[in-house]
Amino acid sequence: MLEPQPVIGFYSDWDAGTVWKSRIEQDLPQFHFDLLNEVEDKSTVRYALVWNPPAGFLKGFVNLQAIFVLGAGVDSLLKDLELPRVPIVRLSDAGMAQQMAHYVIYGVLHFQRRFEEYRQLQAKRRWEPIEDVEAIQQFSVGVMGLGAIGSVVARQLAQIGFPVLGWSASPKTINGVRTFNDETSLSAVLSESRVVVNLLPLTDKTERLINKKFFRRMSAGSFLINIGRGQHVSDKDVLEALDEGLIAGAMLDVFDPEPLSPQSPLWNHPNVIITPHVSGLTVPQAALDQIIENIKRMETGVAPHLTVDLNRGY
Ligand code: NDP
Repeated sequence: MLEPQPVIGFYSDWDAGTVWKSRIEQDLPQFHFDLLNEVEDKSTVRYALVWNPPAGFLKGFVNLQAIFVLGAGVDSLLKDLELPRVPIVRLSDAGMAQQMAHYVIYGVLHFQRRFEEYRQLQAKRRWEPIEDVEAIQQFSVGVMGLGAIGSVVARQLAQIGFPVLGWSASPKTINGVRTFNDETSLSAVLSESRVVVNLLPLTDKTERLINKKFFRRMSAGSFLINIGRGQHVSDKDVLEALDEGLIAGAMLDVFDPEPLSPQSPLWNHPNVIITPHVSGLTVPQAALDQIIENIKRMETGVAPHLTVDLNRGY
């Protein structure tokens, strides 16, 4: 009897998989592409490409060789206690870093040039130039997390002329960026920065790291841009920090839970900008380049690039 063709399976809560199917079947013709929730025989699935599968969803796929995550963050997947014990491979940049650098540059300029106030003046039909604008050379930006995305964001902010302070777990060298990598130096980063950008992965160490104590360490009147994960911060702490004047404004792309409840007071806070988790969207062609290369490596017995370190959680 003929062996059934091995399957590369796909599950996503935002993509129907059409682009992925044609490219995978073209570049890896030995595999059949199927949607994981429609596959007839789960034992034929060799590789799973997933974004946000429900907990326990991957349990029955007994011959999986690896799980490919269709994004940069793996926090929601790692919470699944029934996840098969196979390598988890994530994306690195895959077109997201440039989008996120643009998002951050927009936000930092919004705060530095005081565009929020112009928006409010416009609503009142008032022609009032604001003369007190901080020079870009004095408007320091702290970037927390200097990985595939944070390093690009930090470098591009520095290229525009902002002084940039970067914070990561291990030492880093990035042109034009002052880098720090221990808990004590976080205070220096926070107290010097006019804007703090969160680009950390969500792990046991970083969950709710941005809390009231953290806001008190930031310089008075500074701003937060959170494009990491909603669980890095609590909405309540952000609102209190704004109302107590610990921070002057926030630009938030991620929330806990998502979508943000229509009842949340964040929606109509005058100093909060909200976007619905769109600062960096996976670009399928860039992601496919990485995934296909990794599957080819694994098929020849070579370990894939970018395997998640389960001890670190990212
Ligand atoms: P990486 O894993 O490449 O980089 C993570 C960075 O955070 C590294 O520099 C790492 O340090 C640092 N870090 C991790 N833990 C700590 C810690 N406890 N203290 C200090 N630094 C720490 O991730 P990416 O750059 O690819 O992505 C970052 C995050 O951005 C993702 O995990 C995801 O949550 C979020 N994201 C959000 C998107 C959106 O649309 N809003 C889209 C894409 C990503 P070191 O280098 O020393 O290990």
